Amino acid sequence: MPTACWARLREDVDCGIRRGAWYDTVSVGQFEISLAVHGQERTFSRDTFDIVATQPTRWTIVAHASNAAVIPARWARGYAVCPQCSMRQLPMGRPQILRCDGCNGLYEVAWEETYFDPDGGSNSGGYKAPRF
Ligand SMILES: [Zn+2]
Repeated sequence: MPTACWARLREDVDCGIRRGAWYDTVSVGQFEISLAVHGQERTFSRDTFDIVATQPTRWTIVAHASNAAVIPARWARGYAVCPQCSMRQLPMGRPQILRCDGCNGLYEVAWEETYFDPDGGSNSGGYKAPRF
């Protein structure tokens, strides 16, 4: 694993990590991963994260957001998360490219991803594709 990589929560759990957001890794061990979270190093179980070696450049669509803390009710079906600044945003329609209200970056939207795939085992409610 290269020294610089990025990690994203892949299970719908509350652990102080924003669903759909990519975090800089501090270290990646066999069982644990340390991330830079709001300027602090925090350690998690490695198997609850997707890890990539190149900086992600596409919006994540978080479809199972009903359990997430501090989101507007109208986002319950889903929202997009910026790959650069991790800001959450509600896409209008189904744009292929979306500009971030936070960092002003322009990124593709990863519509074909099945984030929190129900076949992954942790969601009992079944997959519901978001409609915006
Ligand atoms: Zn952004």
